[in-house]
Amino acid sequence: MALQVVLLGPPGCGKGTQGHLLADAAGAAYFSTGKQLRRELESGTALGEEARPFLDAGRYVPDAMALRLALDWLQGVEGGWVLDGFPRTLAQARELDRHLGPAAAALQAVLLEVPTGELESRVGVRRECVQCAWVGTRSEAAEASGSCPACGGALRRRHDDTEDRFRKRLAAYEELTEPAVVHYEGSGRLHRVPGSGSPGQVFALLRDSLRLP
Ligand SMILES: [Zn+2]
Repeated sequence: MALQVVLLGPPGCGKGTQGHLLADAAGAAYFSTGKQLRRELESGTALGEEARPFLDAGRYVPDAMALRLALDWLQGVEGGWVLDGFPRTLAQARELDRHLGPAAAALQAVLLEVPTGELESRVGVRRECVQCAWVGTRSEAAEASGSCPACGGALRRRHDDTEDRFRKRLAAYEELTEPAVVHYEGSGRLHRVPGSGSPGQVFALLRDSLRLP
């Protein structure tokens, strides 16, 4: 059975890092709503332009836009997948179930739990690579002399990593995404994984929780 995982958690909980580790370990395809939207924005596509006001305001894009982005992507995937940043709302979670049909029973949702105080202290230290999918902290970047440890590319501060944006995203998460968490928990598909600690430590817990070999 191919892996079908939805990653949930507050902003800064490490979904991107864990999503990549998981996709690599399971040979699954990885999708990030945030990354995909930034790509659309930078390429100046119609969808990117539609999304711009929401991204500029540090807000989630509307359900219809997120669904278009994610379901189009899923259409082209053959094996397993890991979704990061989708679904973000209860409506999106229900639409995804509907889209998957009977296969939705095999979907596994992972909630990365990190205390809010720790999330706040993580904000502002994240960096991302302009060339590949690497996301990490300022200190990890410093160890690699300020360039991407994966490919040597240039690094930049994440577009949405300011305190004000973080608070808005946290409020949106609590209001909009927590009902989706309840949806997965109620249907017995939720794994709660502690997201504090090093990426390697968290990934070991995630792996155990999903019973990956
Ligand atoms: Zn890179």
